[in-house]
Amino acid sequence: MQNFLTANYHAHTIRCQHASGTEREYIEAAIAMGIREFGFSDHVPCPFRDGYVSGIRMTMEQAPEYVRKIRSLAREYQSDIRIYAGFEAEYIPEFYEEQKKLFRTLDVDYVIMGQHFWCSEDKGPCTAAVTGDESRIRSYVNQVIEGMHTGTYRYLAHPDIMNYRGMDSVYDWEMTRLCRAMKEMDIPIEINMLGLRENRHYPDERFWKIAGETGNRVILGIDAHCVEQIYDRETYEKGIKLVEKYHLDLINGMDMR
Ligand SMILES: [Zn+2]
Ligand SMILES: [Zn+2]
Repeated sequence: MQNFLTANYHAHTIRCQHASGTEREYIEAAIAMGIREFGFSDHVPCPFRDGYVSGIRMTMEQAPEYVRKIRSLAREYQSDIRIYAGFEAEYIPEFYEEQKKLFRTLDVDYVIMGQHFWCSEDKGPCTAAVTGDESRIRSYVNQVIEGMHTGTYRYLAHPDIMNYRGMDSVYDWEMTRLCRAMKEMDIPIEINMLGLRENRHYPDERFWKIAGETGNRVILGIDAHCVEQIYDRETYEKGIKLVEKYHLDLINGMDMR
């Protein structure tokens, strides 16, 4: 099959409690669509204090089973597709060391950054919340850059997740700073196909205009939370239109291991 992704590294599993379908169904959909490399990057677990339990991610205890499951399917399907086990993680300093240890212990193939929060999710707002507060967009950019300097994260998912509605000059300044830093570190940034499909505030054209001018490497990510999203060629075509409109430097895959 043609005219679709050849690699996707952004997919979730039921462990995050807001996705559906089995890993096997995702893999078979990927094979049917001609995808040659498929990575699972479920929401990273966080070592919460005070007994807080998240409703939007797996627990630390579930992580080994998650990776084992993906590894066993990777072996089973190795002649048809290359399967990777990874995580989508926020960079949150208070969790970082423990998460880093988890990535090492489980020997995951890769981690992508998806900065949904600035701090523990039970304490702070989501970065996707509408805001006119310029200190929020500034700390978003600072924290992403600081996290990327660790070298842990392979690409930045939905870099445009901040729903900043204040002054355009502030948006441009901060997002230019983000794009330049990602370019300097050679970190690809993702056009998020789930946002595109659901008409969310991202992909934000203000952002992609800046990325085009900065010359960032860009990757498409399905961000699959159900099987239908893997079969969605229409959204892929919309993504390609965005790539063409802003002359983005699209890459078709990465060396994930
Ligand atoms: Zn999710
Ligand atoms: Zn995701």
